[in-house]
Amino acid sequence: MSDEQIMLDAVDRFLARDVKPYAKALELADEYPTEIVEKMKALGLFGATIGEQYGGLGLSAVTYAKIVERVSAVWMSVSGIFNSHLIMCAAIERFATEAVKEQFLPRMARGDLRGGIALTEPDCGTDLQAIRTRAQRHGDEYVIHGTKQWITNAVQGNVLAVLVKTEPDAQPRHKGMSLLVVEKSAGYTATKLSKLGYRGVDTGEVVFDGVRVPAGQLVGDAEGRGLQQILAGLALGRINVAARGVGVARAAMEASINYAQVRETFGQPIGQHQAIQIKLADMATRVEAARLLTERAALAYDSGERCDLEAGMAKLFATEAAMSNANEALRIHGAYGYSPDNEIERYYRDAPLLVVGEGTNELQRIIIARQLLERYPA
Ligand SMILES: Cc1cc2nc3c(=O)[nH]c(=O)nc-3n(C[C@H](O)[C@H](O)[C@H](O)COP(=O)(O)OP(=O)(O)OC[C@H]3O[C@@H](n4cnc5c(N)ncnc54)[C@H](O)[C@@H]3O)c2cc1C
Repeated sequence: MSDEQIMLDAVDRFLARDVKPYAKALELADEYPTEIVEKMKALGLFGATIGEQYGGLGLSAVTYAKIVERVSAVWMSVSGIFNSHLIMCAAIERFATEAVKEQFLPRMARGDLRGGIALTEPDCGTDLQAIRTRAQRHGDEYVIHGTKQWITNAVQGNVLAVLVKTEPDAQPRHKGMSLLVVEKSAGYTATKLSKLGYRGVDTGEVVFDGVRVPAGQLVGDAEGRGLQQILAGLALGRINVAARGVGVARAAMEASINYAQVRETFGQPIGQHQAIQIKLADMATRVEAARLLTERAALAYDSGERCDLEAGMAKLFATEAAMSNANEALRIHGAYGYSPDNEIERYYRDAPLLVVGEGTNELQRIIIARQLLERYPA
């Protein structure tokens, strides 16, 4: 058996034993799954894509995407606990100094330090160059003032990669942006926000009121590169969101295939009606296509190629597949799909995050089109 298969089997056992029986109650209560997090640490999920030299499992993006699909098909919120963390780790591993890598990555791989990425602010998300959070250098420290919003793992985690302005008047604007590794300390206040779906995992508003960070925790050895660094990390982020889309789309499809065989109308299972068969066929086709696009993007990422086009297409298609399949599953389940006793309404609430997070699907289309115009000059 391959190493990948051994890992995937371990993930399947963890999901069946430690997640599935508890997901519904924790999600409805919007309760952080502390015991599940301990099991995730033991499985090594917090170090899934971190290099082995820093204590991680060093898994490829292809294997990582398969894990994320499996987790999200059972409870998407669990994937958020290690995905945002691993995007942060990818930016550190790729761009930070060796000292910062050694200071943070081994503890992050164990899950003793859990992190996320703090980019979005109350006044801007898509237009990241408009951020206002400011880090001013005072001797060998940066002092941060500003507010970040919708930051996953900000309350339960202990460290964030924070996108800041180090030179607010720089032109072009991205030249004044830097990325800092910030541990919780005096002046850091995080407040949990309530959400339609993706509950259980914390998403918060973070106020930085004079938080002091050692200057050595700048990612890279010079200011002004923060936007490029985090955008490179987001390539892995988009592959992970695409894989979540595949997971949610698959879960909605499997529940629908099952229900179509047990629910009867007019003397036969609804799966015998052609109108339902057409829905099932479209749902299954979307799942297969979404998975193939995600795998293609992950292969491109693993080969070290630039993969904005592939990751953008996978993210766009797979997350729209999750939206469509959740919607169709709700229709197929009739009134039962509308009840919190049934997982269908959770898929219906979880899927919309995927079209917004890691760059909205409107933005993905713009990224894809720009790449096409670059790759096929007239
Ligand atoms: C549950 C949840 C968790 C999140 N976790 C994180 C996190 O961990 N870290 C983090 O930094 N952020 C996080 N976010 C924020 C998320 O990344 C942003 O919501 C997203 O980037 C969009 O930004 P916005 O909400 O400010 O929308 P806006 O940028 O205000 O966009 C509003 C609308 O305008 C459209 N639009 C904007 N510009 C254009 C354009 N040029 N052309 C066409 N359409 C355009 C958008 O597509 C969207 O439909 C999270 C959000 C949610 C809901």
